[in-house]
Amino acid sequence: MTRPIRARIDLSALRHNHAVARRHAGDASIWSVVKANSYGHGLMRVAKTLADITDGFALIELEGAIQLREAGIRQPILMLEGFYEAEELPAFAEYALTTVIHSRAQAEAFCSAPLPSKLPVYLKLNTGMNRLGLDADEVPAVLEMLERSRLAASVTFMTHFADADGPRGVDWQLAALARFPPAVQRSLANSAGLLRHQGTRADWVRPGIMLYGGSPFPEQTAEQLGLLPVMTLQSELIAVRRIAVGDHVGYGCTFTAQRPTTVGIVACGYADGYPRHAPNGTPVLVAGQRCGIVGRVSMDKICVDLTDLPRKVGVGETVTLWGEGLPADEVAAAAGTVSYELFCALSARVPVIEV
Ligand code: PLP
Repeated sequence: MTRPIRARIDLSALRHNHAVARRHAGDASIWSVVKANSYGHGLMRVAKTLADITDGFALIELEGAIQLREAGIRQPILMLEGFYEAEELPAFAEYALTTVIHSRAQAEAFCSAPLPSKLPVYLKLNTGMNRLGLDADEVPAVLEMLERSRLAASVTFMTHFADADGPRGVDWQLAALARFPPAVQRSLANSAGLLRHQGTRADWVRPGIMLYGGSPFPEQTAEQLGLLPVMTLQSELIAVRRIAVGDHVGYGCTFTAQRPTTVGIVACGYADGYPRHAPNGTPVLVAGQRCGIVGRVSMDKICVDLTDLPRKVGVGETVTLWGEGLPADEVAAAAGTVSYELFCALSARVPVIEV
């Protein structure tokens, strides 16, 4: 018998979420963000599903971009961090990739590369995130360098919001943006910007998490945003046992029964991508009924408290770890993380079923 864990990927939910992004985007074009294997959902699966409805794909992995082109994806592809070594640039030209340039050194490498053709360029501007990006005083020289090299087919300005989902919002970064030279085209918004801050639409938006049915906001659920879960991680009960008052469960004995307790053992652990730090009480659904985990998450198993379930359950019962009926955001919050991390961590050993 095969281990009963699987991730169901709902492609119609993905298309639905893209339609929600489209509605918010208005006239702006959409870069569907598919980095990190489409946030764990499968690069090619997501790209093929969105190919006829999105305007472009954005990612950071060159191998992924090549795979997209070799599979026949014709839309623009934006490399969100550009190139790491100048040696990658011929491939950017061969596969018609749009490159980000985020530093002076990268601009210099780009301008001295033996490129057979011009490439569209996104200049990444630092407006307050303080990770990658050119500061305002660096931009005129970089623009001049690009102009002289004649290697940029077009130049779009982009920036990334640090707290579009939080209390600081975006206005402070939009104010910082005003200190840069005017741009012909701009790309600003991630999911949170797109959903909450109309003024960030600009020419191209870059939604990621909302496409996969995750909410970027701690206080607003995906359902409230009209989004549907795309990934549902499911497994089964592979054992059920009764324990007495004072008995413990799992490594480190982090759960001690205060009453006679029915414990279900689920074939899912941190090696499948379940967060190891999920504490006692982190919600799961067993046969559609809510209960909580008990004891430490181990490599291949978690344990759940079945004692109070209205309908009794046994070995073979379906367990939903997150997805349909149990928002990944809620599980993530209980485990002190975000749905982004849950999705990206889905391990290669979990079989994927498209529905
Ligand atoms: N744009 C850039 C530059 C990013 O790095 C990301 C993701 O981190 C996104 C857009 C998409 O962000 P989100 O998944 O929050 O929509």
